[in-house]
Amino acid sequence: MALLSIVLPAYNEEQNIANTAAVLSKLLKENGIDYELVFISDGSRDGTFPEILKAAESDPRIKGAEFSRNFGKEAGIFAGLELASGDAVIVMDCDLQHPPQVIPQMWKLWLNGAEVVEGIKSNRGRESLGYKISAGLFYRIMSRLIKMDMSSSSDFKLLDRKVVNVLLDLPERNTFFRALSFWAGFRTETVKYEVQERQYGKSKWSFWSLMKYAVTNATSFSTLPLQIVTMAGFVFLFFSVILAVQTLVRFLTGTAVEGFTTVILLLLIIGGLLMLSLGIIGHYLARIYEEVKGRPKYIISRVTENVKGDVVGSWRAKERR
Ligand code: UDP
Ligand code: MG
Repeated sequence: MALLSIVLPAYNEEQNIANTAAVLSKLLKENGIDYELVFISDGSRDGTFPEILKAAESDPRIKGAEFSRNFGKEAGIFAGLELASGDAVIVMDCDLQHPPQVIPQMWKLWLNGAEVVEGIKSNRGRESLGYKISAGLFYRIMSRLIKMDMSSSSDFKLLDRKVVNVLLDLPERNTFFRALSFWAGFRTETVKYEVQERQYGKSKWSFWSLMKYAVTNATSFSTLPLQIVTMAGFVFLFFSVILAVQTLVRFLTGTAVEGFTTVILLLLIIGGLLMLSLGIIGHYLARIYEEVKGRPKYIISRVTENVKGDVVGSWRAKERR
């Protein structure tokens, strides 16, 4: 019988673990789906991992790992994919904002041959104005850069084992899970869902962490910002030719005294543009630097007893040694 793994990244979610495990177990048993739950505690500072240990003790279908520090949700997702042994894997938030009732639907689509099932938000849940604006801006930029509509996509999706293996084989460190499943292709179906209220605790994202996330993902997924620099260069070249001609004409006709404003403006615009361009290039350089260093995406410090193999430490790195 086919096995479904559910990957749940968790950062300071001690109140959610037991509840989420119970809700999912009940639902999956009712629907006759063979399952395992993989909780990844992302360097939590509260009792999240002890809660996972407790859950794993009472139910062998629950397993999990703890990171040595906070590596971010992306890393949590990838560690979960790594630990999951299912024929299909669902990734979802462990605060139950991704409604579990959708899981049987995703499962059925998978049984009917879908290789990726995207969860599509039909609303955005209740969010603060600041969050709405920054998230809105983020998705607008991302959709443009990736050339895919990201505004209603989320990390809630089902992936076939084939797709999971493709993602795990990617050598890069700066991954963007949400867009990678689009990038990978495969037979994709979608399921609409309504974002729920958070069960316990509060959101882990701040305005700045979201902005950082946006810039990192945009540069890890697109080189368009670099091309914009080139485009700006062309535009300025065009204007500089016109200005050069004008200046020469003025010089030759002997009216070349004025034009100080132009000089100042040009200096400011070109100076600003150069620094911006350097910044953009620097950002890509930083990404390349990180990739070249080849450090693992995450470090696992502890696992539940039922996790097979030698996983503690930087697992992927060890494999390659
Ligand atoms: N999360 C994580 N590492 C982090 C931040 C968040 O694993 O550094 C997890 C978190 O525990 C939750 C999911 O990612 O399961 C989504 O986070 P959150 O609910 O805070 O975000 P929101 O739903 O507000 O977008
Ligand atoms: Mg949430």
